[in-house]
Amino acid sequence: MSRRDETITAARIDEYDIAVIGGGINGTCLFDLLCRRGYRTILLEKGDFAGGTSQASAMMIWGGLLYLKNLDIPSVISFSRSRDQMIRNMTEWIAPRRFRFLPAPNGLLSRGPILSAMYLYWLLGGCNRKRPALEPHFPEQEQLLHQCSSLLFEEGMLRCSDSRFVLHWLTRKWAPQQAALNYCAFTGGEYQKKERLWHLEARDGISGRELEIRSRAVINCGGVWTDRINKSMNIESSYRHVFSKGVFIGFQRPADQETPLIFVQQEVNDVILSIPWGPVALWGPTEETVQEIEPGFTVSVGDIHFLLEQYRHHMKSVPGRDDIVSLRCGIRPLAVKKEYQQERYPLDLSRGFRVSTDPDRPWISVYGGKITGCGRAAEVVADRMAALVGPPHDPPGQVTESDEPEQHPPTTNFPGLAEPVPTLDWCMQHEHCHTLGDYLRRRTNIAQWVPREGLGRRGENREHLRALCLTLAGGDTEAAEKELEVYSEQVRTRFDRVLEQL
Ligand SMILES: Cc1cc2nc3c(=O)[nH]c(=O)nc-3n(C[C@H](O)[C@H](O)[C@H](O)COP(=O)(O)OP(=O)(O)OC[C@H]3O[C@@H](n4cnc5c(N)ncnc54)[C@H](O)[C@@H]3O)c2cc1C
Repeated sequence: MSRRDETITAARIDEYDIAVIGGGINGTCLFDLLCRRGYRTILLEKGDFAGGTSQASAMMIWGGLLYLKNLDIPSVISFSRSRDQMIRNMTEWIAPRRFRFLPAPNGLLSRGPILSAMYLYWLLGGCNRKRPALEPHFPEQEQLLHQCSSLLFEEGMLRCSDSRFVLHWLTRKWAPQQAALNYCAFTGGEYQKKERLWHLEARDGISGRELEIRSRAVINCGGVWTDRINKSMNIESSYRHVFSKGVFIGFQRPADQETPLIFVQQEVNDVILSIPWGPVALWGPTEETVQEIEPGFTVSVGDIHFLLEQYRHHMKSVPGRDDIVSLRCGIRPLAVKKEYQQERYPLDLSRGFRVSTDPDRPWISVYGGKITGCGRAAEVVADRMAALVGPPHDPPGQVTESDEPEQHPPTTNFPGLAEPVPTLDWCMQHEHCHTLGDYLRRRTNIAQWVPREGLGRRGENREHLRALCLTLAGGDTEAAEKELEVYSEQVRTRFDRVLEQL
């Protein structure tokens, strides 16, 4: 029996303390903490882990310099503290990183005010990062259209991708009382007051089976889907989400770019970044209020026009369609009060997290939140949950993590990539990897670093992907062809057809 089948069989029989809905950064970090505190916890994710917004971030662990614009001092202090804790305690995952700010020639974001703001930022962060510094000459200057001095300051940055960071909270937990299931959507359920138990319904997308899961309490970490889930269950909340779409373009990385660059956007009181990441430099993000979730996860030709226009304003080279290696898109879930009705620029809304408890039933909803500060948010939610359901059945440490030794995955090469990647076999066995998309996009960075999501500019990697599909399908050639066709069609829709409109 596979581990997944074992988990699903156990999930039908066992009774959990807590069910977490959503396998993004909020859900997985919380799952890890609840397990460590001794709660029998099950996490349900409808797609792949980090398949929502948590695969689309800038991967910065930062104190929120931009929130100084609105004098949101409490957020800056709190995010800076979280940033510094994460840099200190998670050295394997997070590294300090210098950023280069390129001020506008005049206006609010010109050199003088920015340097003062950076000093204030550094002070509010307890002077824990390197002191901001003016650097008139720097290697990336050659790329810039307008010559200017730069201001260096320090933040944190994930060493791996955001998807892998999400995954690491889960991969060492395999005991059936600590189950995390991807491709397992929460679909409904009801609370039995007499039993003091939720009977939750879920659909296993791999086998197509329906599951009933019993749990004493539920935590909704559904990101931008949180309100939709709550509505389907008649859950009350003091908050709701506003959605802000964010898109990055991945360009081939210029040879001389080591440091992330921050530019002042033209015409908007915001910034735009160029973040070197492996062989690409991410250019973006956009910041746009959207009303609908599903279309919001699609890059439009308008998003690309906007980003290219900004690029032309700042850089000497004029990129064309063939310079675009990849596209990256997510929707920020921004927490606002339930009655909020205004239409503010999303950057002016708080990026903090909020927690709401249903008055009648043991159901907690998490709003907002970022990768930065995920541990702090998890602690607040777990404490709130402890007040609701009491102490765990098992003392902390008794509900154990896998006793398998930490292993280094075997690696392989992918055409066009200098760095080796973990093998598909390993990812299937150890990392809940089920589809070609899981492997290329979230277990590795292939889909972000190799053009056309790994297929290659002219489809030259198709045979390589076919071999991967055969492994995924256990040697079944028909199933492998189908998997490859589904993936290729997704690339045509998400990438080719968008760029064709340029
Ligand atoms: C462009 C951009 C740049 C960003 N940059 C940064 C940055 O540099 N630093 C930073 O700290 N933050 C950054 N963020 C913010 C951060 O990425 C998000 O706030 C965070 O990833 C949200 O995580 P989440 O867990 O709430 O949501 P998600 O990652 O979306 O997770 C929610 C999950 O719930 C699942 N789900 C929904 N419905 C169901 C259901 N019925 N059953 C089971 N599962 C369900 C979804 O499939 C999804 O995987 C950025 C965001 C964007 C868009």
